[in-house]
Amino acid sequence: MIKNKDICLPGDFLASIEEFFPGSGVYEMNGNVYASILGKIIYDLKERKVSVEPIKKPSIYLKRETTVIAKVEHVARNLAELKILYVEDTKTQTKLTAYLILKRKSSTLKDSNFLKPEDYLRARVLTTEGNIFVSIRGKNYGLIYADCPICGNPLHPLLKNKNVLVCNICNFKRRSKVSLLYIRTKS
Ligand SMILES: [Zn+2]
Repeated sequence: MIKNKDICLPGDFLASIEEFFPGSGVYEMNGNVYASILGKIIYDLKERKVSVEPIKKPSIYLKRETTVIAKVEHVARNLAELKILYVEDTKTQTKLTAYLILKRKSSTLKDSNFLKPEDYLRARVLTTEGNIFVSIRGKNYGLIYADCPICGNPLHPLLKNKNVLVCNICNFKRRSKVSLLYIRTKS
């Protein structure tokens, strides 16, 4: 008798070989058919075949509105590719790739210094289906850490204009979208 359940784990008994032929995602042992992967059980009554359909790996720890810490990898004209390093809400480390759309309407964003590879951002997740897209809108989101491209020292936001980062050593300046949670280091 076949127990009809939706999800199976690898090693779960699915049927005897007399009942169903093994399809994909299963294996046969001693006349029995077992699941070889985590997935959905499909009993094909017409073909008398049992298969396990793999479940698409969901971004378990990434939901909409999740806050993440990400590092900028590449900056294209209107898109930045990021690597999500850390999920704040669940305190998990990841290496997921995410994208940030750069709207070039405001004058700040026209600046080529707006985002650079190696910048660290605090962002929130917009979508997790297909590609992950994040946003840095909101005062707690944006740059949280960047180094000076000239001398390598940490940049710090100006007190009077937090969207301007300045190097205390060589006076290099750049405009960006800076988070209120920018990490202040001693330098
Ligand atoms: Zn500098």
